[in-house]
Amino acid sequence: MAYAITQTCCKDASCVSVCPVNCIRPTPEERDFGSTEMLHVDPQTCIDCGACADACPVDAVLPVDSLGAAQREYADINAAYFEHAEEESEARSAETDGHGPIFHAWGEPAFERVLPPDFGPLRVAIVGTGPAGMYAAEDLLLHTRAEVTLVDRLPAAGGLVRYGVAPDHPATKKAGDTFARFHTHPRVRMHLGLEVGRDVTAEELAAHHDAVIYAVGAAADRRLGIPGEDRTGSLAATTVVAWYNAHPEVAPDAVDLSAERVVVVGNGNVALDVARILVSDPEALAGTGIARHALAELRRSKVREVVVLGRRDPDHAAYTRSELRALKHLPEVDLVVDDHDPRIGAVIDAAGPKDKAAVLRGVTREAVDWSVAPDAAGGRRRIVFRFLSAPMEMCGDEHIRAVRVTGGNGELQIPAGMALRAIGYRGVPPAGLPFDEAAGTVRHEHGRVTGRAGTYVVGWIKRGPSGGIGVNRACAAETVGTLLADAVAGVLPAPTGRPKAFHRLARRRR
Ligand SMILES: Cc1cc2nc3c(=O)[nH]c(=O)nc-3n(C[C@H](O)[C@H](O)[C@H](O)COP(=O)(O)OP(=O)(O)OC[C@H]3O[C@@H](n4cnc5c(N)ncnc54)[C@H](O)[C@@H]3O)c2cc1C
Ligand code: SF4
Ligand code: SF4
Repeated sequence: MAYAITQTCCKDASCVSVCPVNCIRPTPEERDFGSTEMLHVDPQTCIDCGACADACPVDAVLPVDSLGAAQREYADINAAYFEHAEEESEARSAETDGHGPIFHAWGEPAFERVLPPDFGPLRVAIVGTGPAGMYAAEDLLLHTRAEVTLVDRLPAAGGLVRYGVAPDHPATKKAGDTFARFHTHPRVRMHLGLEVGRDVTAEELAAHHDAVIYAVGAAADRRLGIPGEDRTGSLAATTVVAWYNAHPEVAPDAVDLSAERVVVVGNGNVALDVARILVSDPEALAGTGIARHALAELRRSKVREVVVLGRRDPDHAAYTRSELRALKHLPEVDLVVDDHDPRIGAVIDAAGPKDKAAVLRGVTREAVDWSVAPDAAGGRRRIVFRFLSAPMEMCGDEHIRAVRVTGGNGELQIPAGMALRAIGYRGVPPAGLPFDEAAGTVRHEHGRVTGRAGTYVVGWIKRGPSGGIGVNRACAAETVGTLLADAVAGVLPAPTGRPKAFHRLARRRR
C-alpha cells in the first residue's frame, strides 16, 4: 500500500518537505513544478508514514486503499508520473541491488535568507487575507519577530477561499482553517470590513508600518466585448460564484435559474465550477457551505443543460485534468462533446495518455441539434462541451434568448436563457500603484513595487489571475524575501507613527 495525491492538490508543496524518503514529485526546485497541475507520490518508495497526509491543508493525500470510486484512478496517475523518471532509476540505491524502492536524491540544502542576529521586529501591514496575504503573514510570523497588521475590506477573512472556491469542494475550503490559525496569533492585529483606499488611505497605512504588502487579488471580471453582453440573463461567472458563496455584495436574487439551457463562455476551472454547481443535485449540495438563497434557487432550477463554450481544442482547454475528471463522476449528469468540427474528435482520438484531451475519451460525441430543447428524459442533466467555437453576440430583446457562436460550417444560434462569461478575472489598480493595464498586475521586481520603497505585492495582483491556492506560497516567499533583504539593507522608509495609532484610526473609521 502507498499514499496517492488526488484531485484537490493545490500545489503548495507542504508535503514535499515532510516526506522522510523524498518521494513526492515534482519538488518546487524541479523544472516540472511550474507546469504540473498536481504533485505525485512514488508508490514504489512511499513507506506509508502518513506525514504528507497530516501536512496537506486540503486533504488531497490519501492511502491508496481508501480511495473511493471517483478517486481510484489517482493511484495510477501517481504511479504513471514516475514511469519515465529515468534518472531516478539510475539512482537506485546500491543496497537494494537495483531491485528495491527508487532512491530519490536530496538536493543541496539552501539557505536563501540570512538575517543578522540583531534584526529587530518589523511592523508589516498586509492588505488582503486571501491565500497570498496569509502565506506572506505565515512566513513573517514563523521566520521573523514581525508584528503583522491584517486588513480586509470584507467582513470575513479568506479571500477567494471563502468567496470563490466552490462549496462542493469542502476539502479545498479547509485551506481557510490553516490560514485562520494565524488570525489570532499574538503578533497579529486583524481589521475586517476596512477598505484601503476608502476607509483608510494607503499613505495612512504606510505611515504607521515599516512596510506594506498588497495581496488584494484580482477582483474584476473580464468582458467579452460583444453585442448584447449587457442584456438581462447575461452575467459574469464571478457574480454566480459570489452568489453561491454568500458574498455580502451580491444580492440573494442576483441569479435566476428559470432557463433550461445556460451557455458558459470559457473553459477554465471557474467555468467548470459554475457548470457543475448548476447541474448538481441540490440535495447533494445541501450539506455544504452553499448560501441558503442559492440552494433554494437551485431547488427551483429549470436548468437541464449547460453548454461550455471554448475557442480552443480539447487539448488546449484552460481547465485542469482533475476538474474535468471530477465531472465524469457527477451522479445523474451526462457529458457530451459537440462533434461539430472533425478536428475535435481527431484531437481526442490522437491524444496520448498525458494529454488533456485524453480525459474526454469515452465521453459521448454527437453533432448536437440546437433546435431541440434540452432533453429532460429521466431527470438527467447534461454538460455539453463545444470546442473551437467563439461567442459573437448575446441575442434577444431585453432578455437574452440565444448566443450566436462560430464554429463548424459558419455561425449558428444556440438558444439559451442565460449566458455566463467565465473568461478570467482581472486586477484593479490598488492605491495608485504603478499598473500594467495589459496584464492587470502591479509593476514590481521580485515583489517590490517599482518606484515605491517599502511597498510590496503578492498573489494574483502580482502574477495575474491564475494558479491555485498553493502557488501563492512560493510567490509569498519571494516577496517576503525581497522585503527582508530591503530591511537588512536599510532601505525601508522610516514610519512616522506606530501600528497602535493605526489600530485606533481603523476602529474609528470602520
Ligand atoms: C471561482 C474560483 C475558484 C477557485 N477554486 C480553487 C480551488 O478549488 N483550488 C485552488 O487551489 N485554487 C482555486 N482558486 C484559485 C485561488 O482562489 C487563488 O489562487 C487565490 O485565492 C489568489 O489569492 P490572492 O490572495 O491573491 O487573492 P484573493 O483570494 O482574491 O484575496 C484578496 C483579498 O484582498 C481583499 N482586498 C481587495 N482589495 C482590498 C482593499 N482595497 N482593502 C482591503 N482588502 C482588500 C479582498 O477582500 C480579498 O479578501 C479559485 C479561484 C476562483 C476565482
Ligand atoms: S506516506 Fe510518508 S513516505 Fe509516503 S509519500 Fe507520504 S510522507 Fe512520503
Ligand atoms: S495540496 Fe500541498 S500538501 Fe497537499 S498534496 Fe498537494 S502539494 Fe502536497
